[in-house]
Amino acid sequence: MSYRITLIPGDGSGPDVVRAAVSVLEATGIGFEWEEFVAGEAALEKYGTPLPEAMLESIRRNKVALKGPLTTPIGTGFRSVNVAIRQRLDLYACLRPFRSFKGVRSPFGEIDLVVVRENTEGLYAGIEHRILDVAAEAVALTTRFASERIVRFAFEYAKANRRNKVTAIHKANILKLSDGLFLEVARSVAEEYPEIEFADMLIDAACMQLVRAPERFEVLVLPNLYGDIVSDLVAGLVGGLGLAPGANLGEEYAVFEPSHGSAPKYAGLDKVNPTATILSAAMMLRHLGESGAAQKVEKATTQVIEEGRYVTYDICPEGRKPSTTSTMAEAIADRIGDLSRSP
Ligand code: NAD
Repeated sequence: MSYRITLIPGDGSGPDVVRAAVSVLEATGIGFEWEEFVAGEAALEKYGTPLPEAMLESIRRNKVALKGPLTTPIGTGFRSVNVAIRQRLDLYACLRPFRSFKGVRSPFGEIDLVVVRENTEGLYAGIEHRILDVAAEAVALTTRFASERIVRFAFEYAKANRRNKVTAIHKANILKLSDGLFLEVARSVAEEYPEIEFADMLIDAACMQLVRAPERFEVLVLPNLYGDIVSDLVAGLVGGLGLAPGANLGEEYAVFEPSHGSAPKYAGLDKVNPTATILSAAMMLRHLGESGAAQKVEKATTQVIEEGRYVTYDICPEGRKPSTTSTMAEAIADRIGDLSRSP
């Protein structure tokens, strides 16, 4: 049996990390047929649109995609293709598990928490305009429907993954109506899950607590913008963006991608850390029902990082020569082979 998957290598260092993840996936022995598409700037040049309909159609057909990061022009140009894919396919939940790795230096203690980010509305709804040339306005769209389904997703995730606590993050003291609605809905959904502890926290206080006492958190559920920012913050706590995987999930489709962006300064240098994309690929395996293979990918990645011999510059132990993206992926693929021979 083989799986047909939509593959979007992405921009900048995206193709390097996606190639690495594909080689690791293929080392599991599972069959894959890849339907490859360009998007973003490359697609704009080739097809006249950064978001080709054929790519969306491919994801609709295959239900699952593995995606590299796409560059978004800052302050001008086309709207984010990453956001557009999530909105067009109603991938309403962004799931980002973070954990510390043995072998990676970090001034912070053991971290093991999950960020659940609302993926379709808030300030990312794209409702903004200039008022003449003197002001600008953006609408933080918050609906009861989207708030309820993301909070429910967080509780269901907690229940299925034996997590005991969900914390809703907001700024309802200032944004009384929009974040106020999110909080009101979160409190009401929490009542349906008496076995899971519920807490809520202001976003500013949460940022401080995440740095001071990350063990107080298990599953965080956040509106879109806070989820975006807190993801990078927690990535910093575990050792950097190169270690932060992610999934965008909806009722019908799933797109797996690292939390980081296209890191354009390293484009084509075979330099950045492939771990985030490889672990996103492991999440994809689990989604496909291949949990044995997912476990092997995770174990092999963890071991290679802990040993520190074939790791990229961002997590390389002092005095060692950093490996390239492809060498690190090769070491992980080889380890999967070893694990398969002697599980
Ligand atoms: P970035 O995440 O691309 O990179 C910031 C820095 O983090 C890099 O300079 C690098 O030092 C480090 N880093 C990132 N990925 C790494 C990896 N795999 N290994 C080692 N180090 C890594 O953020 P940015 O520079 O703010 O954004 C660049 C572009 O990416 C922008 O156009 C932005 O819009 C886009 N972006 C896309 C996505 C996505 O596709 N989902 C997400 C975030 C940002």
